[in-house]
Amino acid sequence: MKLKGQKALITGGSTGIGKGIAEAYAAEGANLVINYLNNDKEAAVLKEALEKEHGVTVEIKEADVTDETQVEELVNFTIERLGRIDILVNSAGILTQYPFTEMPISAWDKMVAINLRGPFLMIHYTLPHMIENKFGRIINIASQLAQIGGKELAHYAASKAGVIGMTKSLAREVGVHGITVNCVAPGPIETEMISHLDPEWKKMKESELAIPRFGKVEEVAPSAVFLASQPDGNLFTGQTIGPNSGDVML
Ligand code: NAP
Repeated sequence: MKLKGQKALITGGSTGIGKGIAEAYAAEGANLVINYLNNDKEAAVLKEALEKEHGVTVEIKEADVTDETQVEELVNFTIERLGRIDILVNSAGILTQYPFTEMPISAWDKMVAINLRGPFLMIHYTLPHMIENKFGRIINIASQLAQIGGKELAHYAASKAGVIGMTKSLAREVGVHGITVNCVAPGPIETEMISHLDPEWKKMKESELAIPRFGKVEEVAPSAVFLASQPDGNLFTGQTIGPNSGDVML
């Protein structure tokens, strides 16, 4: 098992990519705190399933990643229940679409608050603890759209590009403390987030991909396992790895 005994905190961990990572981490022996905002039932079902199947400890905790007090409570809860935080995965996020000139300022602000300020707050409260432990693995879920942009997605692409920039900068600061910071930037993945997109657009997008299909969460989660594992991920920091069906080739 690649993560036996490791303690991980995953935001947005009860659905989609975060849930896939929670399942993969539990299968590799990690104990978890799964954060959710609305999906309390899914979080409770997931906790029970993972504890039963893998014999690991799984705690669930509601928190809004844009709320500083709730983030601090989430981090303290995790340290109290699991003893420490070895791995932080920032997967919580939203996606909305607006032509640039029609984008309400409030939509921009909300996007940046959840997708960029959220990971910043999570790291802000987790990092001193990781520095004290002289170990940490921070994994931010970005997006391939940060690298190529997307029509009607300026706010989303900007928030994710911000995450990549923050990741690189922080990685340069904290390597000396035994902490790595990386991004996973998936291409289109079949989750609730993109379920509302126009089927015709999806078909067109699929045909543009080198691997002409959208991915599944279980095809993204192994990247987050890899980055968290030792020695596999030891030398990766400031990197953005892309399970993206060949949408972006860097
Ligand atoms: P998803 O199933 O909709 O997951 C989004 C998660 O974020 C949900 O669990 C949601 O929690 C949580 N969340 C939203 N706002 C929150 C807040 N303020 N505080 C705490 N949690 C909050 O979609 P997904 O596709 O798995 O997305 C996960 C991450 O992958 C996102 O960062 C997304 O941008 C990124 N991504 C997705 C794709 C894709 O094609 N699906 C591609 C590239 C990157 P509740 O459900 O409890 O409200």
